[in-house]
Amino acid sequence: MAATTLSRLTERLADPSLLRATGCIGGEWVGAVSGATYDVLDPATGEVVATLPRMVAADTRVAIEAAAAALPGWRSMLTTARARILRRWADLVREHADDIGSIETAEQGKPVTEAIDEVRYSAGFLDWFAEEGRRVYGDVIPSTSADTRIVVLKQPVGVTAGITPWNLPAAMVTRKVAPALAAGNTMVLKPAPFTPLTALAIAELGIRAGLPPGVLNVVVGDVEDAAAIGAELTSNRTVRKIGFTGSTAVGKLLLAQSAAQVKRVSLELGGNSPFIVFDDADLQTAVDSLMASKFRNAGQLCTAANRLLVQTGILDDFVAAAAERAGRLVVGHGYDDGTEIGPLINSAGLAKVERHVGDLLDRGGTVVIGGHRHDLGHTFFEPTVVTGLDPAAVMWREETFGPVAAITPFGDEQEAIDLANDTDFGLVGFVFTRDLGRTWRVSEALETGMVAVNTGRVSGEMAPFGGVKESGLGREGSKYGLEDWLEIKYMNLGGISR
Ligand code: NAP
Repeated sequence: MAATTLSRLTERLADPSLLRATGCIGGEWVGAVSGATYDVLDPATGEVVATLPRMVAADTRVAIEAAAAALPGWRSMLTTARARILRRWADLVREHADDIGSIETAEQGKPVTEAIDEVRYSAGFLDWFAEEGRRVYGDVIPSTSADTRIVVLKQPVGVTAGITPWNLPAAMVTRKVAPALAAGNTMVLKPAPFTPLTALAIAELGIRAGLPPGVLNVVVGDVEDAAAIGAELTSNRTVRKIGFTGSTAVGKLLLAQSAAQVKRVSLELGGNSPFIVFDDADLQTAVDSLMASKFRNAGQLCTAANRLLVQTGILDDFVAAAAERAGRLVVGHGYDDGTEIGPLINSAGLAKVERHVGDLLDRGGTVVIGGHRHDLGHTFFEPTVVTGLDPAAVMWREETFGPVAAITPFGDEQEAIDLANDTDFGLVGFVFTRDLGRTWRVSEALETGMVAVNTGRVSGEMAPFGGVKESGLGREGSKYGLEDWLEIKYMNLGGISR
């Protein structure tokens, strides 16, 4: 009998108890109040990997109560004690990176080596914020009155909610949970319905590391349940902050819902990144970086290069080199040796990529390589390079979230900047040039939260990740990322003079 995804996964797991298929509330592994369930599928084959509870508003309320009950103990714990737990957790995640990576590949589809890398990267947020949590410094501010002193305290926000997407099922979880918990908050986490198993494995390791019950609660549900869970998280007065990573459309909805109670909100939303290659760029660096930024995770990254702007003098060489490299990418199941590109997450993702490519071709675009569903079927799409992208194309306005590199030529520096900024999004801009003056001018002119110069990667626990315009509010990672999970309290101390 042919091996199923589940049998392949089970065979790979050194610690099968990491495969949790229920929610986690108050330190207990629990099903839905209603008893309803849904299936998590392998996007590469459509096979069932696990059956999980469909939690809704009632379950979410119980999770919020558990987070509220855990708050007094957790927020008053010494920061050194909280740091020890988070550091132990980071160690456990690294120790079990192969297992968690295997779980992630089964439900998300990416090559298992890439998934393991992501898991290791996700552990970095736990380490980093374990340490940063010990440096939540206040201020003493000189007063204009001899009788008073001004003191600034930083305190946890309280019970918080984290809502995460499916494209980075490990890293997007720890990028929220680590700063929230390090700052002394408790959390109700809602991972994406397609990829809950990775989040649950990480939560299991958190419990093993010593998280007290209720400090982190995980509520899981099917796609249709998200609205009910989100409505409870945004309307329940106990929840003081929503931290969301996902699409701009859902981010706007959560922001509007949170407005009713003026809840704090941080949003990491969609991108539509320009990838600008100047004539003086190092061609090899630009093409290598395109592989990292456009084709990693099958192009399903918020930071993915979406609009490639290439100066006319280097255009032909760049198109040829990009097509040659894209044509060599190995497409396959994430567990198969050598796979570099897995499937798209689901048929809706595949349909979107086809719509974007079709629209471009209707407008006179040209396929250089790829352009079709892959022979492997299901949700696989060929690594694709197309030319003829212009501002009227759908792809210019929306992130494609697939392995499609679409190229537009430009003439001079100002044109590149104008084209790059011609979007409602502003997450990251990629710039390739060897001219130092141009590096500064273009980096300063880009309307983005981040700029990557001569590299296709951006992100790391030590750096402030986030966007401007409709790409989000707030920053994750770095010392700035901790501030988003803290409240400032100013005390005016009187009666100092004798
Ligand atoms: P999504 O559809 O917005 O979903 C994100 C999360 O929100 C999922 O858990 C989703 O659950 C949930 N959700 C949907 N409707 C909700 C509601 N009414 N209330 C509460 N939760 C709700 O995004 P996605 O497709 O999972 O992820 C891809 C998007 O994330 C892309 O736009 C990408 O650019 C963005 N992203 C941004 C960053 C960043 O750091 N800026 C990082 C990674 C991804 P359901 O699936 O059940 O709807």
